[in-house]
Amino acid sequence: MISVFGSANMDLVAYVPEAPKRGETVTGHRFRTVPGGKGANQAIAAARAGAGVAFLGAVGDDGFGAEMRATMSEAGIDVRGLRQVPGPSGIAHIVVDDDGGNSIIVVPGANGTITGPSGEDLAAIAASRALLLQLELPMVAVVAAAQAAMVSGVPVFLTPAPVQPLPQELLDAVTTIVPNEHEAAAITGVTGPDAALEALLELVEEAVITLGSEGALYGSRSGERLRVPAVQVKAVDTTAAGDTFVGALAVARSEGMDMERALGFASTAAALSVQREGASTSMPSRRQIEDNLT
Ligand code: ATP
Repeated sequence: MISVFGSANMDLVAYVPEAPKRGETVTGHRFRTVPGGKGANQAIAAARAGAGVAFLGAVGDDGFGAEMRATMSEAGIDVRGLRQVPGPSGIAHIVVDDDGGNSIIVVPGANGTITGPSGEDLAAIAASRALLLQLELPMVAVVAAAQAAMVSGVPVFLTPAPVQPLPQELLDAVTTIVPNEHEAAAITGVTGPDAALEALLELVEEAVITLGSEGALYGSRSGERLRVPAVQVKAVDTTAAGDTFVGALAVARSEGMDMERALGFASTAAALSVQREGASTSMPSRRQIEDNLT
């Protein structure tokens, strides 16, 4: 089993010709609500990629919360650790323009009420083959979950987004950090992925930097370096490509695949996801990933 301790947000997506400026009202083409949040996205990606997954997090007592619980449950995720708290669920208000550009407001809602893993969460983490973390919950909670995993010898995969200062106690508990190129540069203060990779390895045991259509770079303190090309596809919507990548990577590693094969598995899953619209709606099944492995 893989545990995901993280955020669940309802994505409220408006498609517009051009994003409104201050004081302006524009008429949009269409609107849709899609369950998202980095935590929920990674949980769904991992479940589709073939793992048993436990989601540990919080939703509010509104309709969005009920919908997110149902979506994760339907994806086969164990949602016993998804608590309901009074007040609104987290939301991401997303405006997508005709050029594919977007602007996003995240209101944490229920996610912001989590101050740490519960007793049940700690038991789930200790019994897991991997723990997936992102930074959309309060940092104090993320650190506590990472430390609980470390104590039990459970590998921790961290997506350091949204970018913020990373406390030493968190870095000490992370096995694999998986930033994109911009996050890697922001964390290390170093530009260029190769140099950023070396700087990240000063902080954590191993690192994967995702490079969008350029693929990914991997390095470990033991000296291994790998460069994985992206699968050549026509991208329709890259939302949650990174979440699909890390979800699939954790599944592959938890099954004992070596890093090179695991990165190929993750790249294939992410490439399939960018060919479809949406976040949780775009993630491929195990069968689809295996049929497309090169
Ligand atoms: P997001 O924030 O949209 O979730 P990200 O910025 O975290 O994405 P990226 O580096 O853009 O992550 O992409 C993650 C992985 O997805 C890449 O390493 C690659 O394997 C795959 N990928 C992304 N874009 C493409 C593309 N255009 N074609 C093929 N694969 C892609």
